[in-house]
Order: sequence, then C-alpha cells, then structure tokens
Amino acid sequence: MAIAFDNSYARLPARFFAAVRPLESPSPTLIAANDVLAADLGIDPDWLHSPAGLDVISGRAIANGSEPIAQAYAGHQFGNFQPQLGDGRAVLLGEVIDRAGKRRDIQLKGSGTTPFSRSGDGRAALGPVLREYLVSEYMAALGIPTTRALAAVTTGDAIMREEFLPGAMLTRVAASHIRVGTFQFFAARGDVEGLRLLADHVIARHYPAAKTAQNPYRALMDAVIAAQAALVAKWLNVGFIHGVMNTDNMAVSGETIDYGPCAFMDHYDPATKFSSIDRAGRYAFGNQPRIALWNLTRFAETLLPLFEGDEEAVVAEAQTALSAFPPAFELAYFGGLSAKIGLPSASAEAAAQNRELIEALLVRMTENQVDFTLFFRLLAKAVTGEDEPVRALFVDPTAFDDWARDWRQRLAADGQDAAARRAAMERVNPAFIPRNHQVEAMIAAAVQREDFAPFHRMMDVLSRPFTDQPDAADLAQPPEPHERVAATFCGT
Ligand code: AMP
Ligand code: MG
Repeated sequence: MAIAFDNSYARLPARFFAAVRPLESPSPTLIAANDVLAADLGIDPDWLHSPAGLDVISGRAIANGSEPIAQAYAGHQFGNFQPQLGDGRAVLLGEVIDRAGKRRDIQLKGSGTTPFSRSGDGRAALGPVLREYLVSEYMAALGIPTTRALAAVTTGDAIMREEFLPGAMLTRVAASHIRVGTFQFFAARGDVEGLRLLADHVIARHYPAAKTAQNPYRALMDAVIAAQAALVAKWLNVGFIHGVMNTDNMAVSGETIDYGPCAFMDHYDPATKFSSIDRAGRYAFGNQPRIALWNLTRFAETLLPLFEGDEEAVVAEAQTALSAFPPAFELAYFGGLSAKIGLPSASAEAAAQNRELIEALLVRMTENQVDFTLFFRLLAKAVTGEDEPVRALFVDPTAFDDWARDWRQRLAADGQDAAARRAAMERVNPAFIPRNHQVEAMIAAAVQREDFAPFHRMMDVLSRPFTDQPDAADLAQPPEPHERVAATFCGT
C-alpha cells in the first residue's frame, strides 16, 4: 500500500460527512512535492514523484485504503452564522499515523464539487494553491503550528474566475480538519449525540489528557482556548494576518488552517489588512486576538449541552474557561516580543518592565512606518553597537534613539554577553518573510508565463528564515511604495 490509511473520521456516523470522489484532473503536472513530509508520513517520496503518485494527488486514482469524504461543518462568516458549509472544494482522502505516532489527515483541495459546494465550482486556481503551499511551509519553518503542503499540481484545466485561470490541486496535511464550525454544525441541529461523538473524537485525537479530567468537555474547552491563545500570539510575533478568521477557518487542533487572502505585514500598523473581502477590517492584524476569543466563545457555546448542571452554572463555567484567554495570550505575546528585543523575561517583574518597553516601541514603530521584520532583525546588530541600520528604518531616527536609551538600560541590568544576545535574537527574528509583493510577483510568473522558478526560489530561501542569505537580499526587502500590494484575494 503506497499510503497506509487508517480512516477514523470515516468510521463516524454518516451525517458527519458525504462520500465523494475527487474530480479527475485531465492532464496533471507536478509543481512541487514535499519529500521530507512524505517520509514523515511513511510515504515513499519516489512514489509521490511517480505516475502512480501523480494520479492520486490529481484525483485520477483512489489509492488503496483511501475512503474519500467531504466533511460537514457550519460556521460564522464575518459574524453571520451559516448552518451548512462543509468541504465544498476539498476531499479528505484519509488519515495516516506518522512516524511520531500522530494521526494526520491527507486532503485534496481544489478537487471538484461535493454536496457542500453550494454555487461554487469546487476548483482552486493556481495562485491560491501556490500561496498556501508557500506560506504554510514557511509557517512550519518558523515552528508555528500549521497544516502542511505535501504536493501541488496543475490540473490541465482552465477554471473561470474574473478571467480563465489555470486550475490546481493542493495535497494538504493536517493534524485534523476539525473546525470550530464542525462543532457548530451539530450544535445548530440540536444533535447532542453527534456533538458528544465529535468531542470524544477530538479528545482522543488531540487532547488525550482531557479524557481523564473530572469534566473531559471542560478540559477540552480549556485545551482549545490555550492552543489558540498560543497560536495567535505566534502569528502576531511574526506579523501574520490570517485574513479570514471565520469560525469554519479555525482548527480545534490549534494549527493555522485555510490560507486564503493571508499576508505578512510589512511596516507595522495594527490596522493592517489585505483581504479584499474584509472591508471593515474585522480581521485586521491587531484584531486577531479579539476575534480568536469571539470564535472561542462560539466554540464554548457548542459544548454547553455536554456539561452537567443547571444553565447558570454551566454558563459560568464556560465564562471562567474563556477568561483564561486574555492572560494566556498576553503572556505568550509579550514573552515572544521580549525574546525578539533580546530580553527573555525570567521574572514577573521583568516581564512587566518589558511590556512597558514593548508598548512604547510599537507606538513609535506605527508612527514611523517601521518595517516589522527588518526592525527586529536589525535590532540584533544594535546589540553589538551597529545602530545605523535599525535607526534608518524610522522616518524620524531620533524616535529610535529615545527608545533605545531605555532599552539599553534594561539590557545592562540583564547583563548577558552581547554576542550571545545578538545570536539569540537572530534565532527568533526571521530575516525573511513571504513578502506580499513578492508572493504576488511569484504567482504572476507562474500564472502568466508558466514560470515556476520564482516559486521554487522563494520556497528554498524561506525554508531557512533565520539565516542571512546574501544571494537572496532582494527577498528581504520591503516593497517600494509603488510595489505595495493593496489587496489580496482568496480566489474562491
Ligand atoms: P473559505 O474560503 O475556506 O472560508 O470557504 C468557505 C466555504 O466556501 C467552505 O464551505 C468552502 O468549502 C466553500 N468554498 C470555497 N470556495 C469554493 C469553491 N470554489 N467551490 C465550492 N465551494 C467553495
Ligand atoms: Mg475555509
């Protein structure tokens, strides 16, 4: 068997999914295959590159042991509840147990219509597939929990968007594709039995320690809240904007999922948003923690029918669980930023002082339109006396000098060796991010000229985000004013 499937979700009751066959790509071509990930999943990379492998990742053949299904879910989209969403352009091929003993989903995205497609065509255009491949693998390279990209193909079909575009399929790997919206699907139907089966499945799969807790469902709630607080803090520490934080795009595993109009911020501004469909900025950079808590509140509501006790007591318990989010987020967020400025905080007192310093910094960065990534990368040089590169990022460089006086006082009080501090900062502050204008240029090359060289080059450089790569200095550059990308599209 090329892939050792063991499909636990397909063993759940029939109302959890619909059995579907992926669409057969007419003439697929492999764009990229992730050999390291394949090996982790027990899949022979040579098979993945073979005609038999290509058939499976382009929908032309069903691998032995695969039971393709589209998963049912619901969700709040921009705050409005949709009781019926589901995989409208994706098919779960099945699950495998990876080399570390973890269960992982293997899914095709862009694989044709399903009973959940509504008016959509079930397809994916090449651009969004390349963006998801690149950005999800970049997140993995940073050590941020994320779904992964196992392979991408062009299908040989043209699909209709605003214009005809090349069709593509992504093979995505996830701890699971279970979303807050999956819980909402059953809650909205008053299907308490379905909820319980889903919750037990998620506990067994993602949070086994919850099983032996006094109230396993409360423990599940706590675990998902903690995982999301940690995740969103990591996003903010690297300038990531998800773009569509609908409840159906939030995985209960705590992995980043559903890369649509996502982007990394160039100059720091908490109001930054790129998604063309997010007109009001609901999912703007600085709103993400608040939205995560809003989504988690919807998640907690779905679990209430599984709690014992009268309504008042049950609601109070959920509120207690949710009240853990802000402090957990802040601890992780300011802890991450402290490390970024070279002051990993050991004590609560040091953490409070760091927080003040960080908040003062972020105000100055906003006022001076400072590039978020370059600031921290170049701040490391200032530790060993090279101030000019980081100063020059500020519209008014004296704004840096004023802040740096307070920063240096804290460094002196901390007393770590300068070279060691600089090295530690360079290990947490990436030199490279997938710059939005470069991602757009990479997509244009592939779509307009069938030139995948920029994609492969970015994949290569971004796989080592913490290493200075002089040959790729252009990829570290922020956009010139005329290169700035105003909006990103999810291409659905
Ligand atoms: P998302 O863009 O991930 O937030 O998708 C929201 C919902 O729309 C999900 O149910 C998707 O499966 C569905 N959807 C998105 N694009 C398509 C498409 N091209 N065809 C069918 N369904 C789609
Ligand atoms: Mg989605």
